[in-house]
Amino acid sequence: MSVSNRLCEQAPTFCEEDCETALFRAKWPDGFRCPRCGGLDFYRIVSRGRRLFECSSCARQTSLTAGTILEGTRTPLVKWFQASYLMQTGISAKLLAELIQVTYKTAWLINHKLRYAIQVHDEGRLLAGDLQLLGDFYARPATNRPSDPLTYRDEPAVAGASIDAESGGLAEVKIKRLSARSFNRRTFDVDSFGAFLWRHAVDDRAGYRRIEIVKASGSAGVTELGAVWRGAIRWLARTFGGIGPKHLQAYLDEYCFRMNVKTDGYNTLLSLCGRIGTITQPELVRKRLGVRSVRFTGLKHSAQLSRSLCVS
Ligand SMILES: [Zn+2]
Repeated sequence: MSVSNRLCEQAPTFCEEDCETALFRAKWPDGFRCPRCGGLDFYRIVSRGRRLFECSSCARQTSLTAGTILEGTRTPLVKWFQASYLMQTGISAKLLAELIQVTYKTAWLINHKLRYAIQVHDEGRLLAGDLQLLGDFYARPATNRPSDPLTYRDEPAVAGASIDAESGGLAEVKIKRLSARSFNRRTFDVDSFGAFLWRHAVDDRAGYRRIEIVKASGSAGVTELGAVWRGAIRWLARTFGGIGPKHLQAYLDEYCFRMNVKTDGYNTLLSLCGRIGTITQPELVRKRLGVRSVRFTGLKHSAQLSRSLCVS
């Protein structure tokens, strides 16, 4: 039995009311708050078949899903919760569609909206303290479409980790594609890593931070950060048969989210769903998520990075 099938069997059995209660707590962890006046008291009402909350001060009506990642959904909450639970292993939209009995399009949208919540969460967290960095290329596996110019293109990416001061192990990891602007060579140099640090690590103007550039494997075997990088590549290959560049960053962020939250991924994801606004399907399809053109101001950051760099 596959991991995802086993996980599906172990999934808590929710009913729609349980999910409403859980989403209410995720959206309003400190209790109901009116989006217009901040009022704390409400009435539950049903209007045109929709269950709504009406503020007892200003009569503003709001739904449970408004302002959450589930906004506008017509899929039962139970299926969203099952999909969130299954994201602990990370499964394809095809398999998710079978497991929770929705169409492929709905499964794809649910998976990507959950990934979007993860990405917004990730953007707000910067690596801090001593860091390890690893530069490598994600080579999309060859397909049977040799005419596709993207098929054989390698995507440069940097894996970065903050180091736990006590254990010396990895405390938090990120893997980010480098935009074409910040990477136009075949090797990783100070500028490549600087572009990563500029966006994803706490600013260290004083240069106190120790930064170690590591390889995926060395004389002592596979490095810890190398194992994270290789784990991501294996997961993408086994679960999806490889991922094209358009959505690659969303999948990398999903993988790192699991690495970072470890055992509490499900509850953390539910909490994110309740407080992060949604993204529409056209926006998802149009955007190259997580890849923003970063113009790296090389000189200043190169000098800082060179001061704190320790190449092993
Ligand atoms: Zn109000």
